[in-house]
Amino acid sequence: MTTLTVHAHAEALAAELEHASAETILAAAAARCDRLAITVSLQDTVLVELAHRVAPHADLIFLDTGYHFPETLAVAAAVEARYPELTLRRITPELTPTQQDLRFGIALFSTDAPACCRMRKVEPLHRTLAEYDGWVTGLRRSDSTHRAHTPAVEIDRHGRWKFNPLITVSDADLDRFIADHDLITHPLLTQGYPSIGCAPCTRAVAPGEDKRSGRWAGTSKTECGLHP
Ligand code: SF4
Repeated sequence: MTTLTVHAHAEALAAELEHASAETILAAAAARCDRLAITVSLQDTVLVELAHRVAPHADLIFLDTGYHFPETLAVAAAVEARYPELTLRRITPELTPTQQDLRFGIALFSTDAPACCRMRKVEPLHRTLAEYDGWVTGLRRSDSTHRAHTPAVEIDRHGRWKFNPLITVSDADLDRFIADHDLITHPLLTQGYPSIGCAPCTRAVAPGEDKRSGRWAGTSKTECGLHP
């Protein structure tokens, strides 16, 4: 298939799946990609539950930056215990936090967050995705204006299939699904953290504040660079 054809095919599939359920979009990803990676932040476990239902052959990819909250690592352990049939891969950066401090200065996340995200998230994900035909994200249009036009299906800048099953899922939909299926939940969500990333770059937000305003607070950075 030529590059043009692949993009046209992805656009047609995105239009077809625009109003489809998350489960249907994920099933389409599983049907298209023999080697499928599902990226999970573990802020919630909705994609894990959906993988269990319709894409058990896919690998769950967790970017273990070395800076996660202990509560996030506890969610990872709980996922492995509840879903033993699924593979959760913990992807680590080349450098440990100590090695990074020695080479680039202490607390690079506060002096050059884009460089820290590049080394601890973007490059490890890029290396890992080379093993797969396609990948799945938990992007939702309601997350931010930057994500407001995310399609159900696209071709990423490396020519790989990218599926976004949760694009039309609202906060209320998500909460309902989690409650209905008694999913594993992240304890910080009920402690003022509506969006959870690495501990040094995430703070609690006040009621009514934008849910992503606690990420890289006080800087102009709003995304880690995984979804340019
Ligand atoms: Fe580093 Fe913060 Fe990015 Fe995590 S979110 S990789 S700690 S800059």
